[in-house]
Amino acid sequence: MDVTNMILDVDTGIDDALAIIWALKSERIRLEGITTVYGNVDVVQGTKNTLALLELAGASPDVPVAMGAAEPLLGNWKGPVPWIHGHNGIGEYVLPEPKRQPADEFAPDFIVRKVNERPGELTLVFVGRMTNLAIALAKDPSIASKVKRLVLMGGALNGIDKANIGDDPEAAHRVFESGMPITVVGWDVTMKALLDVAEVKRLAAAADADNARLLDFVDAITSFYAQAYHRHHKLSGKIPLYDPLAVAVAEDASLVTTKDYYITVETKGELSRGATLVDLRRPPSATNASLCTEVDSERFLRRFLALLSR
Ligand code: CA
Repeated sequence: MDVTNMILDVDTGIDDALAIIWALKSERIRLEGITTVYGNVDVVQGTKNTLALLELAGASPDVPVAMGAAEPLLGNWKGPVPWIHGHNGIGEYVLPEPKRQPADEFAPDFIVRKVNERPGELTLVFVGRMTNLAIALAKDPSIASKVKRLVLMGGALNGIDKANIGDDPEAAHRVFESGMPITVVGWDVTMKALLDVAEVKRLAAAADADNARLLDFVDAITSFYAQAYHRHHKLSGKIPLYDPLAVAVAEDASLVTTKDYYITVETKGELSRGATLVDLRRPPSATNASLCTEVDSERFLRRFLALLSR
């Protein structure tokens, strides 16, 4: 069994929380550290959520959490999204104040140090804005050739993503131009694998004592998310698992079908700023990313539920 040595960058966030739980529970992932960024909530709240979740999940204290960027490269953050994630980012669920502290290192410095310590071994999974990685690349461009792979959640085939790409297109542009091997899990493919939240409720009701508090949390945040998706996207009882799919692809690439493209990020257009565009002028051999086009949704969802019930 291959184990993926992972650094996970999050803006915790309901689906980020589910992605962290996946990474903690999977026997196929060794979590080397978590880095945090602004996005669904501000970076301080996202960091606090991450630390509190690690405690709730009983994670080993040797998983460091390094806090990162508080705003996009050019500033001008448009703010959190309480109508999707709640004011605290985790659907208003109140977790105990974390006793753990963030690491005494800025997230981009943590990434640069870790990648240089273990060249060719670390997979980066970015499920928030790409700001921390763009800053890390500016500090040390050589990490692009030392990262095993970057799996990022964001964008879509010739689509506009207002969140992970669109909130800091300059950062995403630098990442795509870096030469790092990249797999893109876009929102279009995540919408092909929707979770029925009743399944979570069923697992939570049947959870053993060790897992009951964590599954109560998962039940509550997925219910909150389902209500938000019902209000804003007309989904009924089903939610997309954006960030968990990126973690899943990092541990098992066979869950998805990919096609290689040269992807560029639009940083200028008034209507298309943040769009991920396939550059068809390049020769077919000149590609910079593998874009997920299909997902084995049944296998992905089964694995997610199996991990939750551990
Ligand atoms: Ca996220």
